[in-house]
Amino acid sequence: MDHLVIGLAYGKFRIAAITGKDTVEEARKRHNLSHTATAVLGRSLLGAGLLASSFKSDKERILLQFRGDGPVSPIVAMADRNVNVRGYCENPQVELELNSQGKLDVGGAIGSGMLYVIRERDNYEPYTGTVPIQTGEVGDDLAYYLQISEQVPSAVGLGVLVDPTGEVRSAAGLLVQVLPGVPEEDIIQLEEKLMNLGSLSHRFDQGETPESLLDDLFEGWNKLEERPLKFACDCSKERFQRGLFSLGREELSDLLETQQSVETVCRFCGEKYEFSREEIEELMKKA
Ligand code: ZN
Repeated sequence: MDHLVIGLAYGKFRIAAITGKDTVEEARKRHNLSHTATAVLGRSLLGAGLLASSFKSDKERILLQFRGDGPVSPIVAMADRNVNVRGYCENPQVELELNSQGKLDVGGAIGSGMLYVIRERDNYEPYTGTVPIQTGEVGDDLAYYLQISEQVPSAVGLGVLVDPTGEVRSAAGLLVQVLPGVPEEDIIQLEEKLMNLGSLSHRFDQGETPESLLDDLFEGWNKLEERPLKFACDCSKERFQRGLFSLGREELSDLLETQQSVETVCRFCGEKYEFSREEIEELMKKA
């Protein structure tokens, strides 16, 4: 079962681990993602989920936007406190050669450019942090963002393993944040552990869970919370109807001149909403 686990280790590290095979598979099917795009969007969705682990209110949301010059960019991923995630990439069918390490070329697919992190909360102005994309491998970029923009020394690991058939075999992530006042030697020790961690996606493919991963890294850690993770969108036909309505009478009548009905597609989840000629005419009367 896809879920996010949040904990504390020795009063020194805030830790979170996530597993999301079904969630990423759902994104792959909804957007008809290539192998490369599955890894790109999958890592971005799980990364957004990890960053949402600090949320305390249901009204908080985080939106990641990678605007790189790579062929899959831009990529948008969103998560809320309950770890409902959704997102899309601009060119979902692009397939790239494996990189020099024989892995899906996420960095090449995103390219260089900027990462925008937008934190939203009801009744508050959204807060946007912007940093240059470091490697485009997503984990490195989120760690850099947390360090530079939020001043929290952090490590982020993300991995998605895609089967030759295109199906998602595993998808996982790890976030470690250093709390204030932790001595340098503890941080060096942690870095060594993380260096020797190996591939997260392979570990999870072999049966690793967020709990067992954290047990291995931080023996005796304290679990604070567990939240289920899922791909979920808040779109609806009513919302698209409002969008059509705002086009105005003239635009709507133009639409009906060339087509019998109007189909709208949600970018975040790929859901399609069909409006019949009668429904559009009804809207025009009200417009
Ligand atoms: Zn949607």
